[in-house]
Amino acid sequence: MQTLMRSILGGVALGALSLTSGLATMFAANVIGLTADPWLVVIGAVLFTSMVAAVSFMSMNRAMMRLRAELEDHGSTPSGQGPRWLRSVLRTMMEYQVRHRQAEAAWRTRQRELEINAKMAIGGQRQAEAVLGVMDEAVVVCNAFREITLVNAAAGAMLGCHPADAVGKPMAEVIDDSMVRRIMQETLEAGVGVDPRRCELTLHGARGESACEIVSACVPDDRGRTAAVVTVLHDLSREREISQLKSEFVSKASHELRTPLSSMQAYVELLVDGEANDEATRREFYEIIQAETERLSRLVDNMLNISRIEAGIIEIDRSEVDIRELVESAVRTMEPQARSRRIDLHTEIAPLGATVDGDADMLCQVVVNLLSNAVKYTPEGGRVTVSVDSDTLTRSVHVAVSDTGLGIAPADAEHVFEKFYRVENYKRVAKGTGLGLNLCRHIIETVHRGQIGLESTIGMGSRFWFTVPMAQTPAKLAA
Ligand code: ADP
Repeated sequence: MQTLMRSILGGVALGALSLTSGLATMFAANVIGLTADPWLVVIGAVLFTSMVAAVSFMSMNRAMMRLRAELEDHGSTPSGQGPRWLRSVLRTMMEYQVRHRQAEAAWRTRQRELEINAKMAIGGQRQAEAVLGVMDEAVVVCNAFREITLVNAAAGAMLGCHPADAVGKPMAEVIDDSMVRRIMQETLEAGVGVDPRRCELTLHGARGESACEIVSACVPDDRGRTAAVVTVLHDLSREREISQLKSEFVSKASHELRTPLSSMQAYVELLVDGEANDEATRREFYEIIQAETERLSRLVDNMLNISRIEAGIIEIDRSEVDIRELVESAVRTMEPQARSRRIDLHTEIAPLGATVDGDADMLCQVVVNLLSNAVKYTPEGGRVTVSVDSDTLTRSVHVAVSDTGLGIAPADAEHVFEKFYRVENYKRVAKGTGLGLNLCRHIIETVHRGQIGLESTIGMGSRFWFTVPMAQTPAKLAA
């Protein structure tokens, strides 16, 4: 309003000045004797107004230049130079500029916050996806519209679908198994605030039939409505397999323990009842009881050693073991048994050093077990050979025990390293526990990171072999 008044007053003053200058021009013309022509008034007024306008324009231009310089100079306040009316314009413009800068700064801060939040959300999502990806449990998530929003790798394998392709598709299209689909639908219909649905079912999936436990629950949104249904499938096959193996082990172990115990019990009863009349018979019974006791103790020792290795709690006494010396010592142990059965027991030991990092007692037990089996299952007059060799290329030591005995049929050869497995037809040939070869396999493969195997032809004999990595120190030449 003030500015308007000033402009009107300025205009009136300028008009009055123009009129006065016109009249003054006419008066001056009259004085000097020129005709007082009204055109002269007009010309005088125009000239004067033009001069005033030119001066005003120049001063305004200067003021505008200063204003521009001050506006460009951030944070400056009006310097007090230039016309008063321009100063108020400048102040208003600067207030707008300050407000604009503040708004811009606030907007930038908000944008940064949003960027950080978005990055955190993406990071969190990736982390959750990575966790779900490595989980053994199958996880399927669908939204309230029955569309799949997540399938982890385990669920993909279990349900026979590709996780990336499944996302966004209707649940009915992705999940073939009707039971799983039904449980998810029922959970969705039940809504939030209901306990998770939990049951066991047989899944007819990509990997055939498998027993699994399913847990399905609703996830609420921030208004308490159903946002998603999370379903977790836990494969029970492995657990069932382990529990079956355990019960098989217990039943086989009880059976194997019962055999020597029953025999001992029977002979003790005969002795107690006075059935053994003479010293020779009593001695025979005592010897049977002694043999059965030894068998029982061997069986228990083997069972304990196998379970300790399987549980990873066996104490390993590692040292540099010369396999040649170890084999010679094992052969010396087995010589009386071989001689009693007229079996020719001999060694073929390569002259190169065969030192391994291992547990000498355990490795000796392996060689003795293999030799004992070879002697047991080779008819009298046969031949058993132990060979030791080393391979510098694979840096491993090879030991083989070959016999000219009964041999093992391919169907049995597949199982002889399993717990309690004994070739049915040979049970009468020799007594055993069926645990010796399983213990050998554990000692070689689990404790020494080696390999064990067998080649055999029925009726021609068998060759049991094992390899263990050489010690890191250079092999010594045989003396
Ligand atoms: P066992 O105490 O019965 O000898 P092992 O685990 O050592 O138990 O051997 C398992 C089975 O493998 C034996 O019962 C036997 O039937 C068969 N077997 C092992 N070694 C030989 C061999 N050298 N010749 C023929 N059969 C063998």
